[in-house]
Amino acid sequence: MKWKQQLFGMKAYQPGKPIEEVKKIFGLDEVIKLASNENPFGSSPKVQQFLQEQQTNHAIYPDGYAQSLRTSLAKFYSVAENELILGNGSDDLIAIITRALLYPGVNTVMADLSFSQYWHNADIEGAEVRKVPLKEGVHDLDAMLAAIDEKTSVVWVCNPNNPTGTIVSDEALSAFLAKVPEDVFVVLDEAYIEYVNDPSYKDTLHYFREYPNLILLRTFSKAYGLASFRVGYGIAQPEVIAKLDPVRAPFNNTVLSQQVAQIALQDQEFIESCRVANEIGKKQYVAFCERHGLNYFPSQTNFIMFEVKADSNVVFEEMMKRGFIIRSGAALGLEGYIRVTIGTEAQNAKFLQLLEDVLTEQGVFA
Ligand SMILES: *Cc1c(COP(=O)(O)O)cnc(C)c1O
Repeated sequence: MKWKQQLFGMKAYQPGKPIEEVKKIFGLDEVIKLASNENPFGSSPKVQQFLQEQQTNHAIYPDGYAQSLRTSLAKFYSVAENELILGNGSDDLIAIITRALLYPGVNTVMADLSFSQYWHNADIEGAEVRKVPLKEGVHDLDAMLAAIDEKTSVVWVCNPNNPTGTIVSDEALSAFLAKVPEDVFVVLDEAYIEYVNDPSYKDTLHYFREYPNLILLRTFSKAYGLASFRVGYGIAQPEVIAKLDPVRAPFNNTVLSQQVAQIALQDQEFIESCRVANEIGKKQYVAFCERHGLNYFPSQTNFIMFEVKADSNVVFEEMMKRGFIIRSGAALGLEGYIRVTIGTEAQNAKFLQLLEDVLTEQGVFA
């Protein structure tokens, strides 16, 4: 068959092992997943209540334009309805952008380490991928600018960055945007925006009005706690949205997902409480790292990447045996580190206690 050449040797995204499977393999009663940066507090109680009471007719296709959710989002951000595009998670939007703008002969610039879907999708389209190493854990925007040439179609800025949790300052971002050529599309992936507390960060919403070559990506999967529903969205000028929209599948958000996202958006009190709890949790990890002299990346998100001074795959396996699923740094491109989603205070305390045992076993602590 006439498969695309680039599919040979490619593998599907490798997600963390599901909780039920880990329970079975290791004979555990309880397994806590701190691997995919989901919200440990679930979602707004208003969503739970709605789900118990709703009586959706599942025989009817969803509204492909997601009108009701679109109106809510437009109000929430004070943007026009035609400045929004909805995706089946922001993963869907990453694929849509890639399909619209990348093909053999053009290239795309991104950070290394960053979110794997940028290069995975670019590889499928046969575009050249240019990975620019992080500088002290942060996007090196000057080096990314230098990597851009006349064949560059898309530049990805993951802010805050997954997997390091770091952020580029507003000053650096604003200087970067001013220098990117007008015909290069910039994606600002802000999946963790709700968790940011760095004072050097300012709201980025105004940038999409200043730059017709920019899209902001946000999601209901992380702080809103709706990862299973798959709702993400992009904010860009109407001309950009009009180009991307034909690439989108006609019914890419389900009826229920549109409804719960709309309800969740209204409950900003829930988001605020998660933000507060996340700060407390983050301090538990930072204190652990400082006490043990382990390097960590300053996180602006609900996860933290830090050094374990041991084989990260071994630490990953040992923690899994003890009922915690995390991400090995080796799988994310940084051996000797792990990435852990910040859980509830009790989950973090238990995790760190077990990690201390594992690292002692591994001979890390004298
Ligand atoms: C989780 C994540 C996404 C994808 O989120 P969905 O909306 O669930 O598809 C996109 N970008 C980054 C950086 C993420 O961490």
